[in-house]
Amino acid sequence: MRQYPRPLGKLINELSKLPGVGGKTAQRLAFHILSMEDKEAEALAHSILEAKQTMRYCSVCGNLTDQDPCSICEDKTRRQDVICVVESPRDVMAMERIKEFDGLYHVLHGAISPMDGVGPEDINLKQLIVRLQDSDVKEIILATNPNIEGEATAMYIARLIKPSGIKVSRIANGIPVGGDLEYADEVTLLKAMEGRREL
Ligand SMILES: [Zn+2]
Repeated sequence: MRQYPRPLGKLINELSKLPGVGGKTAQRLAFHILSMEDKEAEALAHSILEAKQTMRYCSVCGNLTDQDPCSICEDKTRRQDVICVVESPRDVMAMERIKEFDGLYHVLHGAISPMDGVGPEDINLKQLIVRLQDSDVKEIILATNPNIEGEATAMYIARLIKPSGIKVSRIANGIPVGGDLEYADEVTLLKAMEGRREL
């Protein structure tokens, strides 16, 4: 194995830990960073630290934010009577891109997966139930991913919430089974929202 000078080897090693970055790409990125102007490299390093230090999860909905509650929870012009439940903050961004949904969100940070030992208590579900108590919420849209875990999670939440009388709906199957919400194109996601069915 080729030996890099220590600081370069360290940089390549750290970059290769990023998702989707193999050894070759890590090396290419490291050489690119070394060729950058000092100012540019500092801005990159600074933005990583700043994002890490200031971004947190909204205490209301679980979305990623630099203020708590997040700007979506704070926005009183949005509908307060409908909550779209998603698995990750990336799904919130995907939904926001289609500019069609103007209600609130709830981010589960995962999905129920007994095979992986992930139960209902391991995701951000209790907070959703707390939110629903004494609220004006009339509809919950379950927009978990259309795979086994996402479907199981949607069914579990539907069973939990339906007795309270709140309408529970599931996005339509426009999104390919096994696909991820965040990678769905905007038209597909829009159709999935429009074609949602009540559970
Ligand atoms: Zn929020």
